[in-house]
Amino acid sequence: MFRQNNGRKRRAYERKIDSVEIDRNTEYPYRLNFYHGPPLQEITVEEFEEWAIDRLRVLNELELCEARGEWVEDKPNGGSLGQTMKPILDKYLPLSTSSGKNRAAVVEQERKKDHYSHFILRLVFSRSEDLRNRFIRLERELFKLRYYTDMRAERQAFIDSLNFAWEPVSEEERKSLETKLNWTMAEKEYFKLEFENVLDLVERRQVFLHKGKAYVPISLQHDLIFNQFTRQLEKALIATGKVLPRLDEDDRLVKILRHLADGGIPSTNKIKINTNGEFTADQVDALASKHFPMCMRWMHNSDRARHHAFYDNRTQYGLFLKGIGLSVEESLKFWRSVFNTLTDDQYKKQNYAYNVRHSYGLEGSRQDYRPKNCMEIIKATDTSKHCGCPFRGFEISRLTDELKAMGITDTQELAQVKDLVNKNRYHVACGMVYEFTHKNDTRQLEHTITSPNEYFERSFSLEKGDA
Ligand code: SF4
Repeated sequence: MFRQNNGRKRRAYERKIDSVEIDRNTEYPYRLNFYHGPPLQEITVEEFEEWAIDRLRVLNELELCEARGEWVEDKPNGGSLGQTMKPILDKYLPLSTSSGKNRAAVVEQERKKDHYSHFILRLVFSRSEDLRNRFIRLERELFKLRYYTDMRAERQAFIDSLNFAWEPVSEEERKSLETKLNWTMAEKEYFKLEFENVLDLVERRQVFLHKGKAYVPISLQHDLIFNQFTRQLEKALIATGKVLPRLDEDDRLVKILRHLADGGIPSTNKIKINTNGEFTADQVDALASKHFPMCMRWMHNSDRARHHAFYDNRTQYGLFLKGIGLSVEESLKFWRSVFNTLTDDQYKKQNYAYNVRHSYGLEGSRQDYRPKNCMEIIKATDTSKHCGCPFRGFEISRLTDELKAMGITDTQELAQVKDLVNKNRYHVACGMVYEFTHKNDTRQLEHTITSPNEYFERSFSLEKGDA
C-alpha cells in the first residue's frame, strides 16, 4: 500500500518537473549557481551587511549540523539535515524554483541575494587558509543541499549550462557495450567523457574505459559537479585574497567585513529589552543556574563568590539582567547584594549605584543602553576581570569543568563541544550546549546563539511552556 502511494507521489513529481520553464534571458535562469562572475549592480550598505549576515547564519547552522555528524544526503529533501535546515533557509536565504507558480520578481530577488551574499562572504573568508577551507566546506554543503532539493528538470538544465563536455550514453550503446565487452552496467543511466577529465575515478576503478572515453554512472555525476564547484571556489578565494588590500580604501565596507570575520552575528539586530519588570533580585540565583548561558552563569557565580565585580563584568552582566527584565530598582538591589561585604558608605563612594542607574538611562548622557551580543562579548573576553565568553577565555580543562557543572557529562557530547571551541566556533559551541542541556526542546529553532539574552529567552520560554 505504501508503495502505491509512493508511486503516485513520484508520478506527480515527475509531471511537475516536466512543467519547469527556464527563462534564459534573465540574469539568474537557474536556482543553482556556480558563482562564475561577480555581481555588478549597486546595492545599499545596509543590504550589503544584512545579506552577508543572513548567509552567515545559514553557514553557521550548517556548521552545527556538521558538528552533530549530520550531512546532506542524496535524497529529494537532502535527508534529515535538509529538514533541520529548511526553516532557516526559508527565513534567511530562500531560493525558489523556476516553476511557474513562483513570481518572477521574487525569484529574481532571492537569487540576487544569494549571488551577492556569496561574493560578500568571499571577501570575509579569503583572508586566511583556515577561513578559506571553512567557507569552501560549508558552501559545498549548501550547494549540495540545494542540488538535491532542486527540481530535476531545472537541475538538469543547470548542469547542461555548465558545458562540461558530457555525452549521455543511449540505451542502444549501453546494450551493445554490455554484449561486446561483457560488462554489466549496473546503473540505469551513464554518460561518457574524455577519461583525462576523471582521472581520480579511473584510478579508483569506478568507471568503464572504452576508446579513450570514460563511462561514468549517473550516481557519480553528482560528485563530479560538487568537486568542480569546490575546485573553482578554491581558486576564486585565493584570487580574492590577493585583491583584498585594495578594498581597505572603503572604511564602511572594511568595518562590516571585519565584524563578519570575527563571527559577527548580528551587529545590527537590536536585542529586545523586557520592560515588564518580570523578575526580582531574589530570583536571579535560581535563574542563573537554570537558564543563563555559560558566560552569564560564570559572571554571576564569580561575582557572588568574590562579593565584587569589575566594571566590564558589571557592564556585560548588568545589561544582560536589564535585558531579561530586571527593573532598575531590582538591579540596584541585586548589585547591592553582590557587594554585601561593603558598608553603605563604601558602596556609595564607589558609585556602583550611579553606574546601574546610568545603564538604565537615568544618569549622565541618559542613553538607554542595550545588552551586548555574543560578538561584542567574545571580543571583550578578559578572564582576569571575570568577563566575556568562557568558550573563548577558558583553558580546555576549566571549560570541561564548567560544562560538567551545567550537566553535560557524556564523553561524546563533551568532545563535540570542545572540538568546536578548538576551531574557535564559540557561538556554535554555545548553541550545542543549549541543545545538550535542553533535550526536551523540540521547537524548530536556529541553533547558533547570537546573544546571551537569546539563550535565556529560549530556555525560560521552554520552561514557561511558551513553545
Ligand atoms: Fe555567552 Fe555568547 Fe559566549 Fe554563549 S557564545 S557563552 S551566549 S558570549
